[in-house]
Amino acid sequence: MAVGQRAPHRNRVIAGRAVTSETWKQLRQRWQERLPTECPRCSLLIQPWDIWDLDHVGEPVALGGRTTDIRPAHRACNQRAGGELTQAMRQLGQAVASGKAAQRPWLLLPPP
Ligand SMILES: [Zn+2]
Repeated sequence: MAVGQRAPHRNRVIAGRAVTSETWKQLRQRWQERLPTECPRCSLLIQPWDIWDLDHVGEPVALGGRTTDIRPAHRACNQRAGGELTQAMRQLGQAVASGKAAQRPWLLLPPP
C-alpha cells in the first residue's frame, strides 16, 4: 500500500463489503437527521446530542458484518456489545484449543 493511502476502516462494512468513509459519513448523516431513534442495544432513545455509533445489528463485523441492518446505537452500548463478543470468541477459542469444546460442548453455552 502506498504511503498516504489509508486502509478502509475495519468497522466500515456494509453487507460484508468495506465502504468508503464518504459513504459511511453519508449514512451517519442520514441517521443523524432521523434522531431520536431507539437504540437496538438498550431500547432507550438516542437523542441527537448523544454520542452514538453506527452499529451492525444483525451480524458483528468480527463475524463478517454481512448485515445491511446498520443503525445508530449509543456508543457505550455498541462498545459493550463488542467487548462481550470479543470475550465470548476468546473463550470459545480457548475451549476449542484445550479440547473442552469437543468433550463438553454445553460449557460453551452462556449462563442462564
Ligand atoms: Zn443504548
